[in-house]
Amino acid sequence: MQTASSQLPVIVAGGGIGGLAAALALVRQGFHVVVLEQAPEIGEIGAGIQLGPNAFHAFDALGIGDKARARAVYTDYMVMHDAIDEYRVGLIPTDEKFRQRFGNPYAVIHRADVHRSLLEGAQETGRVEFHTHTRVERIEQDEHSVTVWDQNGKAFKGTALIGADGVKSVVREQFVGDPARVTGHVVYRAVVEKKDFPVDLQWNAAAIWVGPHCHLVHYPLRGGEQYNVVVTFHSRQQEEWGVTEGSKEEVQSYFQGICPKARQLIDLPKSWKRWATADREPIGQWTYGRVTLLGDAAHPTTQYMAQGACMAMEDAVTLGEALRTHQNDWPKALDMYQRARVARTARIVLSSREMGRIYHAKGVERLVRNDLWRGRNAERFYDAMEWLYGWNVGNCLQAAQHA
Ligand SMILES: Cc1cc2nc3c(=O)[nH]c(=O)nc-3n(C[C@H](O)[C@H](O)[C@H](O)COP(=O)(O)OP(=O)(O)OC[C@H]3O[C@@H](n4cnc5c(N)ncnc54)[C@H](O)[C@@H]3O)c2cc1C
Repeated sequence: MQTASSQLPVIVAGGGIGGLAAALALVRQGFHVVVLEQAPEIGEIGAGIQLGPNAFHAFDALGIGDKARARAVYTDYMVMHDAIDEYRVGLIPTDEKFRQRFGNPYAVIHRADVHRSLLEGAQETGRVEFHTHTRVERIEQDEHSVTVWDQNGKAFKGTALIGADGVKSVVREQFVGDPARVTGHVVYRAVVEKKDFPVDLQWNAAAIWVGPHCHLVHYPLRGGEQYNVVVTFHSRQQEEWGVTEGSKEEVQSYFQGICPKARQLIDLPKSWKRWATADREPIGQWTYGRVTLLGDAAHPTTQYMAQGACMAMEDAVTLGEALRTHQNDWPKALDMYQRARVARTARIVLSSREMGRIYHAKGVERLVRNDLWRGRNAERFYDAMEWLYGWNVGNCLQAAQHA
C-alpha cells in the first residue's frame, strides 16, 4: 500500500465544478491537492443548473450534501409543453414520492452556489492549494510523477494529474487531440429577478417549451427570488465553439410561430450570454499513465440531458473510490476509474444528442414526440430514469467489472 501523505500532491488542472469535486474526493483519500486555474479567480458564471438525485448522492459522498441541499430549490415537477400550441407533452412529479424513490431530490440551483459549496468544502479541509492565473500548457510524466508547466514556464510536480480543464481541455489536446463537433445550436442564458418574471410562468418546476428547431427553459433559483431563462435555437450562420455576449436583436429574430406565453421569455432579459455549443465523439481512453481526464474534458456533451455537471461530480466520487479500492496505486486506480465511467458518460453524450432531436422536432416528428409519453404515469417515468438517478457511491464501480 502507498500512503497518500508520503506522496507528492495530486495536480488538478481546472477549478470548475469537476476540478473542485475531484479535489475533495482526493483529499478524502488522504492526498494533498494543488488546483491550477487559468482564471484570475476561482468562480462560476451567473446561470442556473438542474441537478438530479445522482448529483446529490455525489455531494453526500464528498461530505457537502447538507451545504448543497441548503442552497437548492426543490421543484414539484418537470414539465414539457409544445411551444406552438401549449399542448402538455409530459409531466414528471419530483415531489416527496420522487425523493423517496431516488433517495435525494431533483433540484435547481445557481451554478455559483454549487461551486461555492464545493469550494467551501475544499477550503475547510486545509489540504487544497489554489493557484489562479495559472494556465496549464505542457505536461510530461515518468513512472512515478507528472510535471506540468504553466504559461510562464513555472513547473508543478505531482504524483498524478487530473485534467478537469473543461470543454477545450489542454490535457485532452495533448493526449487525445480529437476535433470538437460543433452543433450549430446556440444557447442564450440569463437570470431574471422575480419582479420582472411573468406571473403566469412562476411555476415551482423545471419547465421546457419545445418547438421546431428551438426550445425554451425556465425554472426558479434562490428561493424563487430569481428565474433562470435558457433559450436554444439552430443558428442560421456558421458557428464556432465559444461563449460571447448575446444580442437581444439576434435572439428576437428566432422563435417565429411560438405561442405568446412561451415567446414572452425572450423579451425579459436585459443582457444575455451566448453559447455556441459543441460536443465530442465519446472515446474509450481517458487515462494515459498517471494522467486522466474528468468532467467536460473527458466527455463534453450538449446540454439536453442537463447532466454535464452531475457527471463531473460522479467522475470525482468514482475516482476516489477507485483509489480507495486499489489503496492509492495510481495506475490501477486510474484504469478502474476509466472502465467504470466511459460507457455511462458516453450514454449521456449520445442520449443528449437524441434528446436535442426530440426537443426540436417539426412536422410529423413533432407529432411522434407529442405522442411519446401520452398517459404515462409517474412510476413508469421513474423506472425509465433508474439507470441515471439510481447511481450512488455504493454502486459507482460496478460497471468496471464488465468493461
Ligand atoms: C447551456 C448549458 C446548460 C447546462 N445545464 C446543465 C444542467 O442543467 N445540469 C448539469 O449537470 N450540467 C449542465 N451543463 C453542463 C455543465 O455546465 C458542465 O458539464 C460542467 O460545468 C463541467 O464542469 P467542468 O469542471 O468539467 O468544466 P468547466 O466548468 O468548464 O471548468 C473547467 C475549468 O478549467 C479552467 N481551465 C480551462 N483550461 C485550463 C487550463 N489550460 N489550465 C488551467 N485551467 C483551465 C477553466 O477556466 C474552468 O474554470 C450545462 C452546460 C451548458 C453549456
